Amino acid sequence: MTYQNIKGTFDVLPDAARDHSSPVPSSDEWIAAEAKIRAVMTAYRFGEIRTPIIEPTELIARGVGELTDIVSKEMFAFTRGDTNYVMRPEVTAPVVRAYLQHNLGQGGPQKLYYIGPCFRAERPQKGRYRQFHQFGAEVLGAVSPSADVEIISLMISVYSAMGLSDFRLRINSLGDESSRPAYKAALQDYLRPHYEKLSETSRSRLEANPLRILDTKDPGEKALLENAPRISEFLGDESKRHFDDVRQMLDDLGIAFVEDPFLVRGLDYYTRTAFELESDKVGAQSALAGGGRYDLLATELGAKDSVPAVGFAAGFERLFLALAEEQISLSVRKLPDLFFVARGERAHNWVVAHARQLRDRGVAVDLDLLERSVKAQMREANRQAARFVAVVGEDELLSGELVFRNMSTGEELQLSTDHVVEEFCSMAL
Ligand code: AMP
Repeated sequence: MTYQNIKGTFDVLPDAARDHSSPVPSSDEWIAAEAKIRAVMTAYRFGEIRTPIIEPTELIARGVGELTDIVSKEMFAFTRGDTNYVMRPEVTAPVVRAYLQHNLGQGGPQKLYYIGPCFRAERPQKGRYRQFHQFGAEVLGAVSPSADVEIISLMISVYSAMGLSDFRLRINSLGDESSRPAYKAALQDYLRPHYEKLSETSRSRLEANPLRILDTKDPGEKALLENAPRISEFLGDESKRHFDDVRQMLDDLGIAFVEDPFLVRGLDYYTRTAFELESDKVGAQSALAGGGRYDLLATELGAKDSVPAVGFAAGFERLFLALAEEQISLSVRKLPDLFFVARGERAHNWVVAHARQLRDRGVAVDLDLLERSVKAQMREANRQAARFVAVVGEDELLSGELVFRNMSTGEELQLSTDHVVEEFCSMAL
């Protein structure tokens, strides 16, 4: 028996090779999505950061939080010698690590983006994998609500650049150290008399991490929470002003949002703004992207001074699901500019040499690798939908003239074998 990929992972194949009934997009589409993301990130003046896929386990345990599902149940972690490694389940903690390690705070705020794989041992299902791929961005060293809006605006711009429109932005403010303890206590006071009605998970969260109960999916708990105290009633003046400013600026930009008092994002280090971008169309895993402000993370990771920061993270797999639902295919030009059909060995050698020269000039050229008949080579050129086809044989090499046929118009051009590379390149492709 041959080997298979591990459950919850997948291979990404070129369009020409992939099974079109598979939900996994082709590498051509993947590349096109990345190009769009990079273009938007660059326009917003974010620079790319690439951090390792393995990180110290403790960085993730502290950064993401011991009480989260990610750390308590889903880490791919291992030990070698006396070092504990984890395959990163997210990229924010690694970015903050790099920011602190390289003293990136010296020159003012840093605007960083990333693209790459993450790993979580979750139960695989539609839109949920064990190796998945994120893109995201962080503004580090800026406390102003403008930074929150910069991040949200950037995130929306990425999805708009893809041609998507069927998404909803939900936002909330989680307050800060001055308001959170009072809210936690009020929520616990409200929930304790209903302890019997809570699920096993929520019971375990009640004392240590009661805010997590707010994003329950359980209908009974949802109903119970309808009358629970709201964090908005507990916000201190500064958090309130910050949240007002964020909402005002989003309004000014025409970015639609809904306020959701139950949006928490789970992690203890989040302060003030929290947000999620949701699609109704991608099934149970509806969160396309999410993020928020995390002013406490740097000190949690050992920094002397706090680093006010805000960011978002998004999944490629769910982006592709949303694209499929809205029937958008990212246009990718993958057709050969030219297919050389060779008749005979001498012609084949000529074709190999000239294809190489053209390819070195950036022209996409294909040729036969199977010593097929002229007819079979023509069939291949058609199958690949080559823009031009040129047949090269003894006669053409003797006469010094080659015919290039434009396959969509039927128009034919004669180019001399001596100057074929320059002449083909100078034609408008
Ligand atoms: P999180 O870091 O949990 O806030 O996730 C941010 C985004 O990453 C989500 O909105 C999803 O798009 C994506 N994501 C998270 N976990 C997975 C997973 N297991 N499989 C696929 N995408 C995921």
